[in-house]
Amino acid sequence: MRPNRIILSKHEHPDARTVALEQDIIERCGAEDVDCLVVPPLYHLAESSKLWKALADGVEQAVLLGWLHPRAVSWLLHRHQIHLAESHILDLRTFADAKSAFAAAGGLSPFSRRQRSSRTHAVDRRETGTAPFDAGRLVELRAPTKPRWYPVVDQSRCTNCQHCLQFCLFGVYELDGDGKVQVRQPDQCKPGCPACARICPQSALMFPLYEKDAAIAGAPGKLVALDAAARRMFYSRTGRPCPACGQKVAKKSRAAVAGNGACPECGCPLAELTQSARPPAGREAMTHTPPKESGESAQRRAFSDLDDLVDQLDRAMQRRG
Ligand code: SF4
Ligand code: SF4
Repeated sequence: MRPNRIILSKHEHPDARTVALEQDIIERCGAEDVDCLVVPPLYHLAESSKLWKALADGVEQAVLLGWLHPRAVSWLLHRHQIHLAESHILDLRTFADAKSAFAAAGGLSPFSRRQRSSRTHAVDRRETGTAPFDAGRLVELRAPTKPRWYPVVDQSRCTNCQHCLQFCLFGVYELDGDGKVQVRQPDQCKPGCPACARICPQSALMFPLYEKDAAIAGAPGKLVALDAAARRMFYSRTGRPCPACGQKVAKKSRAAVAGNGACPECGCPLAELTQSARPPAGREAMTHTPPKESGESAQRRAFSDLDDLVDQLDRAMQRRG
């Protein structure tokens, strides 16, 4: 596919450097005769914004430049039925200047250029929905934004285990008609908190603005680290036994035990468990299921139960006799 348009998603907190870089990209588009669509920071657009529709119409064969990790942006767009591959999204934070970012965008494959009689670098600014999308070469679509904070689901990783749905106390997640977990009430999420990202067994949840942990923000090639405290909270909220160590976490229990003395999955102390019963360390613990009883031991237990039953019958017969 030949990209023929740059979509520039503006920085949410513009400063002199980000504004200059964005302006430089816009001017390069003008100078190089490449279509450019400037849009507000996409993560902060309202769910019902008309701009999503305008983007859906204009995203084909585009390269999107923005200030978030491409995986997060790709799945954010996907949430609005806009399909743009992660490979066609570039994170401007990873470029030293506009020249290298512009070159990387063009390097995905050459931009197609249109002939026009006169060149202008002026940006045509429009309110979203008031003009046809494709009416100009340099168009800035404006739409109201407000600071938002919500999870973005990487559907390629999500196994629909519903842990996030069961964990969240604020009704952010719901099941759709096909029984698939979806973010339905994003604005009910608690700003600044990425708690459910820490309990998702598949690292499928991203909070694109979370700066303290690049994996949670959707950085490429990273998995969210196991967080025993958050998983412990999950087990205490849902009442499920930990699949790794088999223990149930008390409802009011919050603090996880750290280190070798704790189950890496739920943070429960392992002191009372035998060494052989200890779960494996690391991420495997999340998918670890308690070992099944062997056929031999199950048979032994059945015989023992039978012996008990026969003893009880003997005692009952003696009492009657
Ligand atoms: S916890 Fe993760 S894998 Fe499970 S349904 Fe939620 S997003 Fe999907
Ligand atoms: S961060 Fe907290 S409030 Fe937001 S979706 Fe996750 S569990 Fe719910």
